[in-house]
Amino acid sequence: MTSSVKQETVSIPYKTLIGEEFDEDVLRVIEHLTFDYESTDEELASKTGMTVNEVRKTLYKLYDSRIATYHRVRDLNTSYFIHFWKLLPVKSSILAYRKKALLTIEKLKQRLEYERNNVFFHCGTKECPKLTFEEAAESKFKCPVCSNPLQALNNEKTIEFLRNKIEELEAEVENLSKKL
Ligand SMILES: [Zn+2]
Repeated sequence: MTSSVKQETVSIPYKTLIGEEFDEDVLRVIEHLTFDYESTDEELASKTGMTVNEVRKTLYKLYDSRIATYHRVRDLNTSYFIHFWKLLPVKSSILAYRKKALLTIEKLKQRLEYERNNVFFHCGTKECPKLTFEEAAESKFKCPVCSNPLQALNNEKTIEFLRNKIEELEAEVENLSKKL
């Protein structure tokens, strides 16, 4: 049973599905999960050599990313809940990721438009806010916090960063769509 799950994990882009939350622990836990409710936190800890706390933290990351889920049963002796974990069907994980990514792309595009359509002003002090042209004009091109003169900011780097991020996400979404 475990071997068939392992084989499937190779072709599943879990790293992409989890994104920035991905680390080695995630992969170790995924390798020992199956598509049936049969693994408890304790069993996974002993199989992976991780502590129960590390395993739980990782399982909740997988839960948040719609990759794993659990059902819980109350232990009649201790009255604590025992959680039984399983992997969600890959298709639903991909669909959940895609939905999240498309929302992010939409937000990044709005931000890109905003950056393109505005000139920003700043006094050069790290703690002070970035102002729009209207705000800068209103305070007569002096920082409302420290009263230093405001300078127009070059936001080319921000624009480039946003554009790259959008491209990157769009490519991921396209790749994942092929796996559905
Ligand atoms: Zn300032």
